[in-house]
Amino acid sequence: MNTTTTKNPLAQVKEMVQSCIQCGTCTASCPNAFAMDHTPRKLWRMVQADNADAVFKSKTFILCSSCYYCTLRCPRGLPLTRAMGLLTQMAQVQNPEPFKQSHRFYQEFIQSVRRHGRVNEIEFMSLFFLSMKNPILPFKYASLGIKLLQKKKVSIPNPNIWKKDQNGLEKIFNKVRELEEQS
Ligand code: SF4
Ligand code: SF4
Repeated sequence: MNTTTTKNPLAQVKEMVQSCIQCGTCTASCPNAFAMDHTPRKLWRMVQADNADAVFKSKTFILCSSCYYCTLRCPRGLPLTRAMGLLTQMAQVQNPEPFKQSHRFYQEFIQSVRRHGRVNEIEFMSLFFLSMKNPILPFKYASLGIKLLQKKKVSIPNPNIWKKDQNGLEKIFNKVRELEEQS
């Protein structure tokens, strides 16, 4: 086992950005930098300085939309989009509370797609509310749900639409996992 990784939760990301020269091209290229609490350049500096507390409190990586501009333009050719994704995954373990809702939302969304080949909004939201065990939460979404139903953006599903092609879907999900593990 890599002892550096055990001691420093940022070790893997640090390795990815260790040759950053702080030129700021990533920040200048990022369409979401204006909304981030730390610019991408500053975040990489914090990673290099092993400032794990500040990094995992930051919302910078959550606001990354994986557009790959920074990765394409970084003069050092650093895998910045992948590093942002890794920080998002790690933050759910290091500082789980702020991520609980979005993590469960994502989990229920992807499970619904996995079951049906597309999202079943009613089922997905019901399971999400159940998983959050918060009786107030559905009321927060009630007016949005009504608006979506009125605009026919959400419909009561016809059971025939949800016929599964479990094998085909599983093959696609397994292939994606395989590619992610290789990258
Ligand atoms: S573009 Fe690359 S080298 Fe420049 S600040 Fe960003 S990560 Fe560092
Ligand atoms: S991949 Fe993320 S961090 Fe990089 S430019 Fe796009 S939004 Fe910004």
